Amino acid sequence: MRLILLGAPGAGKGTVAKMLTALDGSVQISTGDILRGAVKAGTELGKKAKGFMDSGALVPDELILDIMGERLLQDDCKPGFLLDGFPRTIPQADALKGMLTKLGIELDAAVNLDVPRDVILDRLTTRRTCSNSACQEIYNVKSKPTKVEGVCDKCGSPVIQRDDETTEAISKRLDTFNAQTAPLVGYYEKEGLLLNVNATSSDAVVAAIKEKVGI
Ligand code: AMP
Repeated sequence: MRLILLGAPGAGKGTVAKMLTALDGSVQISTGDILRGAVKAGTELGKKAKGFMDSGALVPDELILDIMGERLLQDDCKPGFLLDGFPRTIPQADALKGMLTKLGIELDAAVNLDVPRDVILDRLTTRRTCSNSACQEIYNVKSKPTKVEGVCDKCGSPVIQRDDETTEAISKRLDTFNAQTAPLVGYYEKEGLLLNVNATSSDAVVAAIKEKVGI
């Protein structure tokens, strides 16, 4: 399947993407994960992106479009892809449209994961992430704690709170989302691709997507 996952930070895009990859071999492409990997590795891209990310702002479109232009050409995208965190601005959406037209690829849907702001705030401040960039398993101190405190169940690496998941950065990220990314819902509605789902349960989101794409 070929999907865009839209939704505020903490709406569950990453969790849903991971559940969907297991269904048909589509690959999850998370621009946030790619950027965090670059920051950790200390690459030029990481150095340019870190300040924006830590403050809860978006990284400039040019950097993201360079990443995605290359990423979508890789072989593992052939069976399908789940775009998690991209596009996030109207110029990114326009650029993606151009890239896909060039590649002769059509999207199945742009899925909007709709979650109330209070639920999102609670989820993000209690979220913890495995620090191993090859794992990045997501935990929640309330609803999905690690078996041993601070240690990833899957790979044994330390589980951390992300730099951009402080209360201040989260509030900025939600404002950024409302100003720059929320307009994409109208954009994809006009394109006839929008699937709006109430995202308080990831299982319900996956069921709605399966029905929409017919798997
Ligand atoms: P995420 O894990 O998707 O919430 O992304 C973490 C951070 O990476 C965001 O707050 C942005 O600073 C940056 N980022 C990720 N994807 C994009 C994008 N498509 N455009 C601009 N910035 C992005």
